[in-house]
Amino acid sequence: MIERQQVIVIGLGVFGATIATELTRLGHDVLGIDISDQKVDRLAEQITHAVIADVTDAATLEELNAGDYDMAVVAIGRNVEATILATMQLRELGVEKVWAKALTNQHHNILTKLGATRVIGPEFEMGMRVAQELNYLMVNNYISLGNDEFVVEVIVSERLSGTTIGELTESAEISILVVKRDRDISKDPGSSYPLRTGDQLVMSGALSELRKLANHIL
Ligand code: ADP
Repeated sequence: MIERQQVIVIGLGVFGATIATELTRLGHDVLGIDISDQKVDRLAEQITHAVIADVTDAATLEELNAGDYDMAVVAIGRNVEATILATMQLRELGVEKVWAKALTNQHHNILTKLGATRVIGPEFEMGMRVAQELNYLMVNNYISLGNDEFVVEVIVSERLSGTTIGELTESAEISILVVKRDRDISKDPGSSYPLRTGDQLVMSGALSELRKLANHIL
């Protein structure tokens, strides 16, 4: 099991609150800080400790013994000045891992210079992930069946041309339901059926298996 870590999360908006509650749930010791009493009250029961404080006040982090923590997440976002001051102070107090949320590239560069060990651009990172996942699956169309099961339609790429249905189903636990080639529709094609560029494949399986397949064929 991963060792219990002492973590500070500054800023308890959607991003920070999610990090703080999830880390608490995973068994870590989390101190959440926010300037807003509403945000702190809402989370008080769900994280190890929650305090109302303004981190632009120079004494705040020192008084909270921030230097004793293993890592900190600065999730303030829009308040750039507070993000900068908190990141700087946490490093000065000796916190080894300081992750900070940035909204722009310039903000990203400043935080890196100030010693943030990782700068997170949530919107950018999520956008990249979604694009990569979509690209991976080469999905033309999909239906969610619930429980992470999907029916997806993909177009066979040039790279996949010549591969048989059997080779695909060996690499992941999926079922190929239909192959559409021009106007022909082959239902339940046999394992020796060879694929051609441009074929439309309709298959079903769990998302994890579909990902496995995508990794195999890319
Ligand atoms: P998101 O919801 O996208 O995570 P927000 O900008 O709503 O982002 O959240 C930032 C949080 O940081 C807010 O809850 C805000 O009250 C808090 N915050 C802003 N300035 C300070 C500060 N100086 N000290 C402590 N918390 C702050």
